[in-house]
Amino acid sequence: MPPTICMRCSTNRAVVKRPKNHHKLCRECFLAVFEDEVHHTITSSKLFVPGERVAIGASGGKDSTVLASVLKTLNERHGYGLDLVLLSVDEGIKGYRDDSLETVKRNAVQYDMPLKIVGYDELYGWTMDQVVETIGKKGNCTYCGVFRRQALDRGAKILDIRHVVTGHNADDVAETVLMNLLRGDLPRLARSTSIVTGDSMSAVKRSKPLKYAYEKEIVLYAHHKKLDYFSTECIYSPEAFRGTARSLIKNLEKVRPSAILDIVRSGEDMARLTPDKGQAACACDEGEGMGGCGSADGRTSGSEMAQMEAKLKAQAGAESLETEITSSGTPSTEKTVSLPIRGRRTKEAAPVPLQKLGSCIKCGYMSSQAMCQACTLLETLNKNRAEADIAI
Ligand SMILES: [Zn+2]
Ligand SMILES: [Zn+2]
Repeated sequence: MPPTICMRCSTNRAVVKRPKNHHKLCRECFLAVFEDEVHHTITSSKLFVPGERVAIGASGGKDSTVLASVLKTLNERHGYGLDLVLLSVDEGIKGYRDDSLETVKRNAVQYDMPLKIVGYDELYGWTMDQVVETIGKKGNCTYCGVFRRQALDRGAKILDIRHVVTGHNADDVAETVLMNLLRGDLPRLARSTSIVTGDSMSAVKRSKPLKYAYEKEIVLYAHHKKLDYFSTECIYSPEAFRGTARSLIKNLEKVRPSAILDIVRSGEDMARLTPDKGQAACACDEGEGMGGCGSADGRTSGSEMAQMEAKLKAQAGAESLETEITSSGTPSTEKTVSLPIRGRRTKEAAPVPLQKLGSCIKCGYMSSQAMCQACTLLETLNKNRAEADIAI
């Protein structure tokens, strides 16, 4: 069989079959098309203003590493005029975050960007290892997600930066759309589809430039661009519900590659039909809905991505005429679907247009409740710690 020729340049040999639309492209064309699509997302949604200082939420994982690399490339190519900074959160997870932070430190040198690291221990007095020691592994993702969101905001404030970009990809967004659909939480669904989150009350704007990029294409981009990233998954167990939604999406993608973008678009359409869209947007919302276990790196049924990465590495050396990107292996199926009990959600699910943003009485962080989510969680943790001390 003769080698397949790239359908874009009609010159080079195709080495990539795009997971998104099965187009067969050469390395250069794939990288160019991927970058052009992110550029289109950025310009069509007017994401940046010239001269803006932007913090990239960097975990060392593939999503945020690709985001940093692509933003650097596009910033130089198209003259965005952005001042890019890497912002990392140290959750305090030994054997996971300490290693991935080493990757971020190398990225800072490779991309010539300043790096700021903020730690859970200095911000909250707790590392995730200590949280898990206290509450166990179940539900720890909720704590981590809430803490991470605030940590990024606080890090941005320390740097006097008002815009944080995160590596959330199309799979992450589709996953959140499905989760909120299954929970019947339309207001949250509406908020999660927006490329920019946060509102006029929030000092820090959040956005997702990779919102339309497939996770598999991010892996391919990182591979073909030879980016230095950390691919180990978080050692703590993820939320069972999120894992189930993720498996569902991966299965849908197998029979219909466009399913991921279709779900994202459907979510956007539903958002337009939601009356209180944006009204109740509060800083805590996304922490739980989107950020669970790094989302960018903590893969739940991650075996598929790990297999894909291993396959890419193996293929890199092999002289195969054509690289077929097929999804191998069956996705891990969740055995239990335990829905965490969260009283607030039921309340939030109902359209309550009068939800107002104020500040947390404890830490001053913006919150729709008297006390922000992080402080509420901290109160439980500190109570547990005090009780443990008494017991001794
Ligand atoms: Zn080409
Ligand atoms: Zn607070």
